[in-house]
Amino acid sequence: MNWPRGYVVGGSSVLNAILYVRCSPKDYDEWESVHGCTGWSHKDVLPYFMRSEGMTPRKVDSTVDPKYHNFDGPYRVTELGPEHVNPFAVDFVESAVNHGLKRNPDYNAAEQQGVFHPHISTDRGVRCDTFTAYIKNTKADQRPNLVVQANTFVQKVVFDGNKKATGVIVRRGKSLDEARKAPEEFIRCKREVVLSGGAIGSPWILMNSGVGPKQHLAEVGIPCIEDLPVGQNLKDHLYTCVLYKTKDGEHDQKPVGLAEYIAGIEQHDKDGTGAISTALLEALAFWSSGVEPKTRTDLEIHFSASFAGNNPFFLAGTGLKSWDPENQIPYGVSPLPTLCNPKSVGEIKLASNDPFEHPIIDPRYLTHEDDWEILRRGIRTAREIMKKDPIASKVVGEVRLPTVDEKVDMESDEYINAIIRDTSTTVYHPTTTCRMGPDGDANSVVDLHLRVRGVKGLRVIDASIMPELVSGNTNAPSIMIGEKGAAHILEDHPDLYAH
Ligand SMILES: Cc1cc2nc3c(=O)[nH]c(=O)nc-3n(C[C@H](O)[C@H](O)[C@H](O)COP(=O)(O)OP(=O)(O)OC[C@H]3O[C@@H](n4cnc5c(N)ncnc54)[C@H](O)[C@@H]3O)c2cc1C
Repeated sequence: MNWPRGYVVGGSSVLNAILYVRCSPKDYDEWESVHGCTGWSHKDVLPYFMRSEGMTPRKVDSTVDPKYHNFDGPYRVTELGPEHVNPFAVDFVESAVNHGLKRNPDYNAAEQQGVFHPHISTDRGVRCDTFTAYIKNTKADQRPNLVVQANTFVQKVVFDGNKKATGVIVRRGKSLDEARKAPEEFIRCKREVVLSGGAIGSPWILMNSGVGPKQHLAEVGIPCIEDLPVGQNLKDHLYTCVLYKTKDGEHDQKPVGLAEYIAGIEQHDKDGTGAISTALLEALAFWSSGVEPKTRTDLEIHFSASFAGNNPFFLAGTGLKSWDPENQIPYGVSPLPTLCNPKSVGEIKLASNDPFEHPIIDPRYLTHEDDWEILRRGIRTAREIMKKDPIASKVVGEVRLPTVDEKVDMESDEYINAIIRDTSTTVYHPTTTCRMGPDGDANSVVDLHLRVRGVKGLRVIDASIMPELVSGNTNAPSIMIGEKGAAHILEDHPDLYAH
């Protein structure tokens, strides 16, 4: 499975699918009540979501609840409405409502569940990533106390004899191969090192520095400075694909070729509108499968009107070389049932003591039996929605998987398990590999101020610190963690305000 990440200033927000999802208030309440992370409940984290956000509501018929939104923060967000999106996405929302899901006017407010067109991270039709938001929009690059060094690979954190982080060793290069050949440089820190390498990068750097599971570090020949469960507890979302062929001429859906892309770019340049100003996934639904714990949001549908039979974006992650070898389905639509509260737990380990060798990522998807059952229910619900009008009358029907014997009944568990087995792919939401927890929690890597346990002067601030994976897309929660982590740095160093 392909796990891309943004090796670029701004990280994966530069290449993600721009869905702005804060996830369920219950997620954060459970971070506090179940995982002991006092001070991280929904009421505690909401101000940090709001601080970052710069929401542009729809010009008419906006349903954004102003109590939960900020309209002038640096991270620009746009409310999509039916007037912006592919008409199939509008049909999907109506069909889901007809199936019984409730229409949620603002899923980034008090209640996450329901069906809707998403909020997306754009500013007048252009992606807003965290580099644009926090370096350009805040004019941080003009501050004398900030230096941004791109193309700089952090190899490890260096500690003194008292386990105090004294700085980092870096090598420079536009690619890992180039950096590997460059000389080592030491960058000293006066106060702290803050790692924000993401759920793969941060545990990778920590383990290369000797902070990680003692036994594993011994296996790869790295002296252990602090024995912590770094790289453990990995969680990720997984989605599957149910593909529908659309009727000829419906909504004038055409295969998108070069000419359409160019037309889209021209329209976008003119007034920031058109197909490429919205998102690949223009309708979302969240609900609970009913598998224990019953109230938890554990299913999501990402609806795409652009998933043709051989869509490379989708196939890249799956075991399928082609869904449609004869290219019979140049265009189609797809609800992507998504496991958004998985119980399976994976890990990240070092492949060797070479800091440039990519770590071994083992998500152990679907190793918990409940995850299969939740996804089966998700696929069945997606099919029920697709049987309801208005979308039902616009599709020819569900496309059979080429990998399953034609005699197998499409309604059977055997067939549905094959959908899960053959079409599942990552939603690119790895988290929890440097888990936060209260003092005394042996399964945590950082404390409630995100300081690495057992050493001094080292913090981790990124998606890896989530005590439990949130039940939805992880970009907005990662930015919230950045905002709250920054507040904890200031709290722990009050004299920093003077600068
Ligand atoms: C293809 C894709 C689509 C996605 N779509 C969505 C979406 O639509 N909505 C959503 O909410 N979420 C989405 N996500 C997830 C979301 O983007 C991530 O959860 C979020 O970016 C995580 O932020 P982070 O800061 O923890 O890590 P990252 O954004 O990955 O940032 C880590 C940074 O650390 C740098 N780094 C790592 N190791 C080193 C090192 N050794 N030396 C120097 N630098 C290093 C990287 O270059 C990168 O800049 C998507 C992710 C991907 C990859």
